[in-house]
Amino acid sequence: MANTAHTTPWEQVSSAIAYWNSLSRLSEIWWTRSAGKESVDAVRHRRFNALLRFARNRSPFHREAYGGLPERDVDPREVPVITKPALMARFDDWVTDPEINLAGVTTFIADRQHIGERYLGRYVVWKSSGSTGEPGIYVQDGNALATFDALMAVHLDRVRLAAQSWDMLARGGRAALVAATGDHFASIASWQRVCQSSPWIAARGFSIMDPLPRIVAELNDYQPVFLAGYPTMLALLAEEQEAGRLRIEPLRLWSGGECLVPGAGAAIERAFGCPLTNEYGASECLSIAFGCREGWLHINADWVLLEPVDRDYAPTPLGEASHTVLLSNLANRVQPIIHRVQPIIRYDVGDSIIAKPEPCACGNPLPAIQVEGRRDEVLSMRAPDGRLIRLLPLALTTIVEEAAHVHRFQIIQTAADRLMLRFEPVGNDDRHAVWHAAAGALRDYLAQQSLPNVHVGLDKHSPLTDRRSGKLREVVVAMERSSVFGASHRH
Ligand SMILES: [Zn+2]
Repeated sequence: MANTAHTTPWEQVSSAIAYWNSLSRLSEIWWTRSAGKESVDAVRHRRFNALLRFARNRSPFHREAYGGLPERDVDPREVPVITKPALMARFDDWVTDPEINLAGVTTFIADRQHIGERYLGRYVVWKSSGSTGEPGIYVQDGNALATFDALMAVHLDRVRLAAQSWDMLARGGRAALVAATGDHFASIASWQRVCQSSPWIAARGFSIMDPLPRIVAELNDYQPVFLAGYPTMLALLAEEQEAGRLRIEPLRLWSGGECLVPGAGAAIERAFGCPLTNEYGASECLSIAFGCREGWLHINADWVLLEPVDRDYAPTPLGEASHTVLLSNLANRVQPIIHRVQPIIRYDVGDSIIAKPEPCACGNPLPAIQVEGRRDEVLSMRAPDGRLIRLLPLALTTIVEEAAHVHRFQIIQTAADRLMLRFEPVGNDDRHAVWHAAAGALRDYLAQQSLPNVHVGLDKHSPLTDRRSGKLREVVVAMERSSVFGASHRH
């Protein structure tokens, strides 16, 4: 049953095999969870140790890192923590399939023609800068992705999507994703899979790079019954819906890819009059947890080990905000044929989380958390005619990353018509080239958004990390009287 069709287009490969895989995983997930917490814990422990053995056998990087560990089953806390820079620096030793190498993957990604195709005929590839600002490249096989599809299906079933699907079908069954389309982002890969495993859905992507009025007009034409996007994008669309400019009647909403700010979910649901499913994921593990109606995220605890820890990687008590969180992705160790391409074991994700001490009122027995992840701000900028134009943080950061190939930077709004850019120190020549590329791309983008008047300036300071969390926020509003950075910089 292995997927060996190398040249078959994505659509044809996935429709039959991935759907079948999803169904078979589905029954296993149900079985494990219905048997209770002890069963989930036992399964997780067994899978953790199986993954550890696999990584030691197949990944030279992990063989070295775990040289001091005993051969017997271990408690996860005995296992060394691993960071993204350490893994990316030794990419070719990290991967467990010797055919995969960084040079090959990079070439594959560089060609936009390959979006939706499979690297070496069998791997889905995407890149991400993640919450630490370090670039990462991720390779997953189709079987691993089927597990995520199954998790999504379990959740959607819980909220009775199945009961609504006839209604969706009757209304054309159209689904819309508003995302950073046209690139190898995890959200796009997820989206394609979700749509393909739901044969009754017709799907279309909309780009967050487009001006908001255009997105609104296109959605009005398209009339989706299922709307998915980043939380900040859905929040903007919710404002448009409330203002009467957006006029759609979705039956379900899905958000992911960013943190959902408390209260934002309820406002989005109110505006559209239908439920929102929020998913917490990372490039290293697409589906870590799903949101519930009580505002908590429930961990897929049979597939994911999540350990909230302090700066020294000691466990954080329940109910307290952690400094970071260690992720072990156990998702594709379920069948012996599956290749765990990039083992993720006690991996420092960088998000601060709070684990709920008491059971969740929603009744879901899986452990509940809240995430204090990357929360960049939506900007409001003044157009020449006096209108306020909202800009999505993710659109701005994507433009800078793509144009200047930098990953440690900060965009600061210092006035209604002024943006300042900060970069991590680089050589003088590089600095000039980076600034030139980033500023040019930003000015083009602003002009497209009816903001040709906005001044883009260079701030010679290095990006400032947040005082409390120690993390870098890439998009910051620091207008006069703001306490975030003190007085704005003038040149
Ligand atoms: Zn709950």
